[in-house]
Amino acid sequence: MDKPRAPASFSAQLVAAILLACLVATLSVLFLSYTAVNAVDADAEARQIRFAQRAIVRETSRLLEQQQASTVWDEAVLHVRNGNRDWIDANLGTWMHEQYGQDETYIVDPDSRIVYVAREGVTGQPGPRSPLPPAVETMVEEMRAATRNPAESTADVAERSLTRFVLLGGKPALVSVVPIVPDTPALVQPAGTEYLHVAIQKADVDMAARLSSAYEFDRGSFSVQPGPDDRLSVPLRDAAGQPIAWFVWRADRPGHRIVEEMLPVVGLFAAFGAALLSWLLRTLWIASRRLHQSEEEARYLAMHDPLAGIPNRTLFEDRLDQALKAEKRGGPAVALLCLDLDRFKAVNDTMGHQAGDELIRQMAARLRSHVRETDTVARLGGDEFGVILIGMTSDETLGRYCSGLVHLLAAPCDLKCGQVQIGASIGAVRAAAVEGGKESLLRSADTALYRAKAEGRGRYCIATPEMTDMFRRRHEIERDLRRAVAEGGQIHVLYQPIFDAEERIVAAEALVRWNHPALGQMGPETFLSIAEETGLIERIGHHVLEQACILAATSGIPRVSVNVSPVQLRHETFADEVLAVMSAHALSGERLVLELTERFTLDAGPSTLANLARLRAAGVSIALDDFATGQSLLRYVRDYQIDTIKIDRSYVARLGTGDGTDQIVRAILDLGRAMGIEVTAEGVERASQREALLGMGCHGFQGYLLGRPMDPLRLAALSARKGVAQKSA
Ligand code: C2E
Ligand code: CA
Ligand code: CA
Repeated sequence: MDKPRAPASFSAQLVAAILLACLVATLSVLFLSYTAVNAVDADAEARQIRFAQRAIVRETSRLLEQQQASTVWDEAVLHVRNGNRDWIDANLGTWMHEQYGQDETYIVDPDSRIVYVAREGVTGQPGPRSPLPPAVETMVEEMRAATRNPAESTADVAERSLTRFVLLGGKPALVSVVPIVPDTPALVQPAGTEYLHVAIQKADVDMAARLSSAYEFDRGSFSVQPGPDDRLSVPLRDAAGQPIAWFVWRADRPGHRIVEEMLPVVGLFAAFGAALLSWLLRTLWIASRRLHQSEEEARYLAMHDPLAGIPNRTLFEDRLDQALKAEKRGGPAVALLCLDLDRFKAVNDTMGHQAGDELIRQMAARLRSHVRETDTVARLGGDEFGVILIGMTSDETLGRYCSGLVHLLAAPCDLKCGQVQIGASIGAVRAAAVEGGKESLLRSADTALYRAKAEGRGRYCIATPEMTDMFRRRHEIERDLRRAVAEGGQIHVLYQPIFDAEERIVAAEALVRWNHPALGQMGPETFLSIAEETGLIERIGHHVLEQACILAATSGIPRVSVNVSPVQLRHETFADEVLAVMSAHALSGERLVLELTERFTLDAGPSTLANLARLRAAGVSIALDDFATGQSLLRYVRDYQIDTIKIDRSYVARLGTGDGTDQIVRAILDLGRAMGIEVTAEGVERASQREALLGMGCHGFQGYLLGRPMDPLRLAALSARKGVAQKSA
């Protein structure tokens, strides 16, 4: 369930985006080319249509010119009048067919009789029996009217011609009607008496060929309807301007032609481009998948423990967040286990790291085998594991589950180097039993784990509300203490006098107090351990030291005693700090005593010893506090060159009870005398205690009997009343 997968979605998106971009680019190019090609073609077509129209006009004037070359001629007038058929054949009739390819020729006399007919070069029988086609008849009448009454005529009387396209028997033809008139003034031809010459040129293959050759139209022909799509056509119009037929040819489309010619080359390029693109995309796809995979692997590594192959703390906390959120929304109940292997360190130290690694792996595997798919097992560090259990609704079930787990983990493990048997302690908590979020849940589980270990390991403990309550309070104090240290003003110092046998003040012990804005004055026992855990003790201790030095510098009190936490003492710069404060207040070392609790001796490292040596060299005395409560062995007194020991107040309290305390106290006093060490008795509350101690030879007294911790003003008043001892050399 925790192996990395390589989702291809990103690669797919990238490739899709590139493909889309290419598609858009290709479509744009195609669209632009298409538009350009069409524009070029439209231009070309417009030009061809203009040329065709011009050719048709030329065809019309050609027919007219051919006609008028012979009809405007004195000789023609005379020969027609005389009916000289041979001459007419040779100049106006069959000759026109032979010379120009005209299809039909007619000559009409002033009385509208047809006096000459030639069809396809063959002379026919004239007369009313071969009447003109009706369209031609109309033109002849128009021309006759024009010659009689030039002003009212639509015909071109100036040139005396009427040329137009008409339908003859359903087929288009060009018909021209002109009068036969003299070309010199020598011959008189009265208006309206002219013979008319009719020339007909069918719009046939020949005419089409002529039109085509003029402008190189492809496959030009005439048709009674406009051409289909790939053809262009120009209408032939009748007198009324109505199209009666069309000249049709195959359009020349240079744009399309170029495209067709270039198509193979373009295709080749396109194929090459497509191949290149697909190669690029493939490379990109592979590269991005690889990138993805390594990203996934990196993410997996960031979220998993490489040794145990299970989630690490980061992922664990993430999943815990999710599970808690889900529970808040009404999802299944969540429980959390913090698990610590017992005696793991011993295996690691004695059998080597490889055995340790193997052990971690096996334990992780056992844990995983014990949880469900929806649960999470994580390695939180070292030999610590965390488990998130989903759907754990009661402490009873949780207890049974934990007990099974303890049992499972206590079973022997087969390692390469032999069999070992370790075990595990478990702290468990159900989210429903704790207020606050993930942090307090983790802390509760930790508390329970701590409790389980304290109770003897190889067991589990379920966090109770009281336990978690305590933790919450600690948490609040920590928060407030941080603020107090940061803002200043809340932490101050009281001084408790220490007396000699004559009840003169020999010293004062600085005791820290915290004026909590809501909870009032608080003693050190409520906040010192938190200050030590969080490191705040450094700044608090510095403040106390400074205040104490000020007191010593400004009062006649021979010496001030300052309690020092082991945490401070361990700090490499501690001695420097103390010496700096002393010199800032011009205080000699003899005026300062540092009180160490017995705890320091347990973890006195090289820096602690170096600090002590430097301070002692500067004349500072060292007192051993709460003497005889812990493991204050004589060795420590000697090794750390203690100047003073302070008998713990529990001994003073039990003086005279006959439980052997008196003997112990006497022995301590004897020891002090023998080693040249001063001894102060703490917690002297009753005169009887002072007397007993005096009788045993004690010379230092501290306690409520003689003076409670007090502020500097009251201390000054008290020392004025009682007097102070001479400063010891
Ligand atoms: P301690 O060094 O043993 O200080 C003496 C404690 O006994 C003081 O408690 C004092 O008020 C109390 N005491 C004095 N005479 C009597 C008496 O006749 N009867 C009874 N019952 N108690 C008496 P306090 O001030 O609450 O301090 C508790 C402990 O806190 C101190 O024990 C000391 O270990 C630590 N502490 C106090 N101030 C500081 C400080 O500035 N720095 C550090 N590191 N620890 C401090
Ligand atoms: Ca003390
Ligand atoms: Ca003490």
